Amino acid sequence: AEDPKRRVLKDVFGFDDFRPGQDAVTEALLAGRHVLAVMPTGAGKSLCYQVPALVLGGLTIVVSPLVALMQDQVAALRLAGVAADTINSSLDRDANVAAWRRVAAGQTRLLYLAPERLMTPRMLEALARLDIRLIAIDEAHCISQWGPAFRREYEELSRLRGIFPEVPIIALTATADEATRTDIAAQLFAGRVETLVLGFDRPNIKLGIEAKQDGKRQLLGFVQRHAGRSGIVYCLSRKKTEEMAAFLDRNGVRALAYHAGMSKEAREANQNSFMTLSGVVMVATIAFGMGIDKPDVAYVFHSDLPGSLEAYYQEIGRAGRDGRAAEAHMLFGLGDIRMRRLFIEDEDAPAEHKRRAHGRLDTLIGYCETAQCRRQILLGYFGETAMPCGNCDNCLDQTPHADGEAEARIILAA
Ligand code: ADP
Ligand code: MG
Ligand code: ZN
Repeated sequence: AEDPKRRVLKDVFGFDDFRPGQDAVTEALLAGRHVLAVMPTGAGKSLCYQVPALVLGGLTIVVSPLVALMQDQVAALRLAGVAADTINSSLDRDANVAAWRRVAAGQTRLLYLAPERLMTPRMLEALARLDIRLIAIDEAHCISQWGPAFRREYEELSRLRGIFPEVPIIALTATADEATRTDIAAQLFAGRVETLVLGFDRPNIKLGIEAKQDGKRQLLGFVQRHAGRSGIVYCLSRKKTEEMAAFLDRNGVRALAYHAGMSKEAREANQNSFMTLSGVVMVATIAFGMGIDKPDVAYVFHSDLPGSLEAYYQEIGRAGRDGRAAEAHMLFGLGDIRMRRLFIEDEDAPAEHKRRAHGRLDTLIGYCETAQCRRQILLGYFGETAMPCGNCDNCLDQTPHADGEAEARIILAA
């Protein structure tokens, strides 16, 4: 007999094979176990609950932090012929009522909700009367107070396993550090969960770091070497994204800015141009990116130091999703470290939180300063062992003078 999950994968989504991890996750859910799936951005986390949802039938509830993400997913599922719905604050009352009618009538397979909407007593009561077979919590790191994306509404989700004790729950995240993982497992599952960490290597992304001197010039040179390709440039401040975009534009590069201080219309217009045109450079703060799925981003350029290795990893993961050669390049300067430390100190947060944030920053600095294979360090941090990759600046530049230690060894051996 044919494997029902493969049937769904092929017939509904049109894919011949599962990506690494997807089948294991699907299998565990179909067997009724709770799963915490840690997979990098672009690895294909959505299918990890969409396939089981369709195999199981009944209703699957999907929790997602952003209305825009929910709308995208529902639209994509409907295109594939799947009965998906969302009830959210951006829809008018009639649309929400119509969606609820479909859900209540048992027509909907996947229902996307924001956590605050799901956890209202009225919604929970109404859902309890329906045939819920699976609950998926996307971007589950939002539950962790230690993480940069913490959302208070996510904390409420810890009640789900008590409210729906018979229903398997899957939590999904791309944030892989041990502390966050343990935190998610503890809060959502009281520690009783199968944790699957899968496929963190993105071998097609070349990793490089360069000492920051004249950042603007360095950026321009890099972008010009990748002329005609789409790229993302991350800057620390809103003001800087606009300055850098204008600077690139003056120098003949089609560049747009994106940050949370812009009007919604301007942001959406720029995002649309970036998504639909090729060869556009998006100069952005970290406000840009969650859920961005553009396959042909040729590079991610960090004009400033990110806040942690997790953030760095998640951000560079937006490059090279099509599997083609791509590049992650970062400028690294002492001024950035000072700036990041000040950021942490200025935060109105408990001392323990600050201590952890400094620790995460130290890890990132270690990554920047290493003379070892960068991918080894990066994957090692996420718990994967790897051989030297041959596709990072340290692997590629093995001339003795580039590495004081190697040079010393040669001198001592002579
Ligand atoms: P994530 O949530 O992990 O960042 P997504 O679920 O958005 O990733 O999937 C990223 C891309 O990978 C999507 O375009 C999706 O269609 C594609 N994808 C997922 N699974 C497969 C598969 N088994 N075969 C081919 N493409 C896949
Ligand atoms: Mg996703
Ligand atoms: Zn390497």
